Amino acid sequence: MYWDQPTETMPREKLAALQLARLKETLARAARAPFYRDRGIADYSVTSLSDLAKLPVTTKQDLRDAYPYGMVSIPLEKVVRLHSSSGTTGTPTVVYHSTHDIDAWTELVARCMFMAGVRNTDIFQNMTGYGLFTGGFGFLYGAERLGCLNIPTGPGNTKRQLKFMKDFKTSVIHAIPSYALYLADTLETMGIDPRKEFPDLRIIFLGAEPHSEETRKKIEDFFGVSAFNSYGLSEMNGPGVAFECPNRAGMHIWEDAFLIEIVDPVSLQPVAPGELGELVITTLNREAMPIIRYRTKDLTAAIVERCSCGRTHTRIKRITGRSDDMLILKGVNIFPVQIEQVLIGIAGVRRNYQILLETRGNNDHMIVRVEIDPNLFTDELKALENLRKRIAHELRDEILITPEVELCKPGSIPVAEGKAVRVIDKRVL
Ligand code: AMP
Ligand code: ZN
Repeated sequence: MYWDQPTETMPREKLAALQLARLKETLARAARAPFYRDRGIADYSVTSLSDLAKLPVTTKQDLRDAYPYGMVSIPLEKVVRLHSSSGTTGTPTVVYHSTHDIDAWTELVARCMFMAGVRNTDIFQNMTGYGLFTGGFGFLYGAERLGCLNIPTGPGNTKRQLKFMKDFKTSVIHAIPSYALYLADTLETMGIDPRKEFPDLRIIFLGAEPHSEETRKKIEDFFGVSAFNSYGLSEMNGPGVAFECPNRAGMHIWEDAFLIEIVDPVSLQPVAPGELGELVITTLNREAMPIIRYRTKDLTAAIVERCSCGRTHTRIKRITGRSDDMLILKGVNIFPVQIEQVLIGIAGVRRNYQILLETRGNNDHMIVRVEIDPNLFTDELKALENLRKRIAHELRDEILITPEVELCKPGSIPVAEGKAVRVIDKRVL
């Protein structure tokens, strides 16, 4: 079952022809934005998709430098919206949309949700922020186009969230993974079994943050649902860029709207098919703010095999992290998601955690703070010590460094309203 069968199952040659035509349009449009005009984009011409590699890349810093209006390629009276990325430091990166862009975005999100099995009979509760963040509006648009009943609760207010889920018989939810985990912790503390409390709940969309396969399984088992991975970034509208189909083995990235490359982050040369690299995306269907070869910093790999669902659009693997999220400690590269993957598998460990990096003397230290079940604090000290050691040991097996582990009471590690802040780096450089 497809939302837009001709596009989703388009033969690759036809898709490539569409991409080339749209790439040419994109370049012509981009040339009207002050930023790309200054870059001399009008001097580049493309006659085949392989010419893409000759075009300059665009970075987040470029978007910052072009703040506030340098990237806009149509008259401002035709721009109807701006959104901004969730980074909290420095000049924001801003993305603009025309009516056409909002409509194209809506179609993409509707396509994703339909692919996962959402229908107009569904009650959809969206637990992500409405505002500059794109997760709220993006999913609202998609779900409205499908004809779902929308409950735009946004994040937080967990008690009301749970009440609405029960009273309105919510069948589909969208949440940032760290919030879904927090919801699970809260239900556990309240002694509520979600399978009994929310018998109609069947699908959870998890997006906006890296999360491991283990986390997905834990959420699925706990709630008794299917969880789908949703990838997007505000520079590419927000949600609706890549999404899992019912096979849930990689995310289809919509190539009628996005032209993708996976490159070595240092040399910017394409990696071999199936190899891990940085995802670089060119918009193909955006009017107000075309972006050429945007370096997402997100690390992934293309899945070379065609998917049995019949969709011809390439799949990408779960994002392991952003190249700029990677911690380097004592020369070892570590992604926070590796730590989460270990913690989620240990009984008695709750789902909220924090990674603290500190310098003591000349050495860097990692302290992993984890919340544990409250009843464990009544156990003998020895049992607690054993748990602490076990966590440190299992982490060592994964990240090759033995961190200090601090066991904390539930609720003692702060929970962010939006994306979780997992790493606090207090190292002295
Ligand atoms: P923002 O523009 O604020 O929405 O942030 C976009 C960034 O969030 C992406 O570039 C990724 O680093 C991250 N992100 C979004 N969705 C996912 C996902 N499903 N898995 C991993 N990281 C994600
Ligand atoms: Zn598929």
